Amino acid sequence: MVVRMRANRSKTGMRRSHAAISGTRLSTCECGANRISHRACPECGKYNGRVVIDIVARTKREQRRTKRREKELKESGKDTTKEKEATAKK
Ligand SMILES: [Zn+2]
Repeated sequence: MVVRMRANRSKTGMRRSHAAISGTRLSTCECGANRISHRACPECGKYNGRVVIDIVARTKREQRRTKRREKELKESGKDTTKEKEATAKK
């Protein structure tokens, strides 16, 4: 590119005046919850009138996961306290 061909700030701004992204469009699901279009409903798991996500199973799985994570966190916390005690004794 030669300097003669380079777009100035005004031209760049004019070109980019259409480049802004708009906010997400929300539509209402048949269950009444807000839903992003072309996405399954997070409340009832339906898409296009058909259940595509097993919400009950998902919530159960998430509960299980959080439980396990808490357990792991506790165990790791215990380990760190033990290490701290060991270092304090030294
Ligand atoms: Zn729904």
